[in-house]
This record gives sequence, structure tokens and C-alpha cells, in this order.
Amino acid sequence: MFPTEDSEFDRQHLWHPYTSMRDPLPCYPVASAQGCSITLETGHELVEGMSSWWAAIHGYNHPRLNRAMTDQIARMSHVMFGGLTHRPAVELGRELLAIVPTGLTKVFLADSGSVSVEVAMKMAVQYWSGTSQSKQKFLTLRGGYHGDTYAAMSVCDPENSMHSLWQGYLPEHLFVPVPQCTFDQPWQESEADALREAFAEHHHTLAAVILEPIVQGAGGMRFYHPQLLKRIRELCDQYDVLLIADEIATGFGRTGKMFACEHANISPDILCVGKGLTGGTMTLAATLTTDRVADGISRSPAGCFMHGPTFMGNPLACAVATESLRILAEGAWQQQVSSIAEQLNAGLGPLIDHRNVKDVRVLGAIGVVECHRAVAMADIQAFFVDAGVWIRPFGKLIYLMPPYLITEQQLTQLMSAIAAAVEQDALFQ
Ligand code: PMP
Repeated sequence: MFPTEDSEFDRQHLWHPYTSMRDPLPCYPVASAQGCSITLETGHELVEGMSSWWAAIHGYNHPRLNRAMTDQIARMSHVMFGGLTHRPAVELGRELLAIVPTGLTKVFLADSGSVSVEVAMKMAVQYWSGTSQSKQKFLTLRGGYHGDTYAAMSVCDPENSMHSLWQGYLPEHLFVPVPQCTFDQPWQESEADALREAFAEHHHTLAAVILEPIVQGAGGMRFYHPQLLKRIRELCDQYDVLLIADEIATGFGRTGKMFACEHANISPDILCVGKGLTGGTMTLAATLTTDRVADGISRSPAGCFMHGPTFMGNPLACAVATESLRILAEGAWQQQVSSIAEQLNAGLGPLIDHRNVKDVRVLGAIGVVECHRAVAMADIQAFFVDAGVWIRPFGKLIYLMPPYLITEQQLTQLMSAIAAAVEQDALFQ
């Protein structure tokens, strides 16, 4: 049992994500996690539907990931990356470069997703500072999400991330409307009109376009048409603007392809990965780029890339990331993700006709039920915990992105809990 005084200490002193310290929502103490299930301190077992926010792609307590970490701990957990290097970083670099879209050859190992986005944006600005053109603006899609640090926030959806709160602090960038053409609708060429206009008018100030390829995650769980991504790549080439793909959520198989860029058969100039990189065990992210961008940065006035965090290339995180990529390289994820997609379509699809449901969509191992009204967070969370599942909705969105090794029975339990929740009008605001 979790002592009451520990719960009280947590409530009084520990900040949780996006939480008020005056009136925090309840948190459920976890004792352990194994495979696709989380065990609470009460002994209650929950089927995990969130992969700890896209990260735990191989489930919890994976013996191979654990072994990679314990073997590495016995050698060294960390050394600085300035002036030193090590096998875990080199092995991870090799594994990553073998699977990312073509043309990406240089790897910067950062410590979290948001930092990898900062790094990507700095790379783009520094690249142009080495040329005769000074280009410092970014173009992005409304409805996006790229992290909570300042530069990342400046390219998140202005309403969702409350740009009004940070006025005067945030750099101002350019936004085009949320994509309307969904992943499997027929492509409408007019969808790219706003982009064509933005490029024509602003290309001389644009350092890069930054976007989440195909899936807009925390900004609304929308799946847009691959042709839009193709058009953006073409416009970037036509106007000499860099393309940054933020695959922090979509990378490593989640959408049914190793990287979501593959749905459109494009390569970005800069790629951010994180979350599932270490199989959800430790914080690590990477920003990858091309020879051209790396050469440009190295020829810029600074003569080098101006970034170097303390825990850059952390050996422990690199070792477990390498093992996670080796598990992916064995290929079982493809069949697992496509079975999850099939089951999500069959199980969640019929909810489309429910009075409380506006839309149901599935792509790869992501299933989304968009409701008409926002959920009552504390109530629906308690409802799901009682139903033996861990599902954490936000706003009007109830969604699943389970670990790839989830069983049919566990996924059925998650979907039944969602079906039962949408029946309950009291769980919505
Ligand atoms: N980009 C995307 C697409 C994300 O989904 C997230 C995290 N939700 C981030 C960036 C930020 O990553 P982190 O939380 O590791 O800083």
C-alpha cells in the first residue's frame, strides 16, 4: 500500500504535467509495470493503453532492454560527450542511420523531445546564417505540437499552447490552416493553396517548415493526407526552404511505417526522434540532418553547431536505445501494428454512430474517438481505472496507442472500456 502521507506529500509538493498546485487532480500511485500492464500500489492491475505517451513501444520491464541497461551500468552510466566518445553512442548512431529516411547522415543526441526540436530550429537558423540569405522564420501547420520549451512552443498551435500567455517572449512565426484532407479521403489539390501562397510571399524569410508528418498528435490527434506532405517537400525544394520533420511521436513504427514520412515517400532535411527511441525506458532524443546542412552550419560564422548539453549522448540511454532499435529491426512490429489497426477499426469503428461521438479514426497503432464534448477528466479517469485500464483522454479526445505487444484480449478490454465510457453522459462536461 502507498502510505497516505506519501500521497499527501505528492499532492503538496510534486508538480505533475499541466497541473494546478492549488487543486491538483488525483494521481494513482504505481508499484510496477510489466509487459502491457501497470500495477497500482493498491494491487489493482491496469491494461496500458497509452504506452506512457507514445514511448513504451515494447511494453514495460522488457528483459532485453533491462539487460542492455544493467550491462551498461556495470561499465559506466555516464561520461561527458565533449572530447570523449563511446561504443553505445557509435552503435546507436549506426542503428539509427540504417533506418531513417535517405539523405540523413549526421546525428545530434539530445536529452528530450523538446530539446531535439530546439536543436533542429537552431540548426536551420545557423545553416542560413552561413549563407548570403538571412532566414530566421518558420512556417508550420495550425494544430501542431512540438514541445513545451520556448522555440518549440512558438511553432505549436497558437490557441492550444496559449500563445497569448507568452506574448512578447515568443518569436512570431507563420501558420497555415489545419489540414482538412484526412489520411484516406481523396486528395484535394486546393488543400495546398494556403501553403503555395505562404511560400510565394514569405520564402525569402523562411529558414524551414516544421511539422509532424501525417499525424498531428497532442494538437488534436488528426491524420492528414500524405499528398500534403509531398507538396510541402516540393515547395521546400522549389523555394530553397529546409524541411524539419518532428517524428518524436510518430517514429519507430507507430503509424504502420517505421517513419511517417514514408507514407509520402519523402525525406526531410532535419528529423527529430525521441519518445520510443529508448523503448520508453529513459529520456533520449536525436536530431538528424544531411551533409549539406551540417556543412553549412560548420561554415557559418560560429564555425560549429552551438549546442552541447551536459547529458548529451548519455551512454546508458544510448545502450538501451540501440537494443530497442535491434528489437524493431527484427520486424515483428509490422505484423503487431497492422493487427492492432485491424482490431481498432473493428472495435472502435462502430462507435461512430454513438450520440456522444463525433468521429472515430485509426492509423497504425493509434485509435482515436473524438467526442462532441470535453471529458470530465477526474471522473473519466476514475471510471477507466475501475474498468481496469489506463487511458488518459484530453479535451474531447479519448485515444489509444498501446505497446505493440498488446494481446487481442487486452486491446478488447481497452476498447470495451471506451465503449462503456461514451455511454455515460455524466463523464462529459
Ligand atoms: N514533438 C512531438 C510531436 C511530441 O508529441 C512531443 C511530446 N508529446 C514533443 C515534441 C516533446 O517531447 P518531450 O515531451 O520529450 O519534450
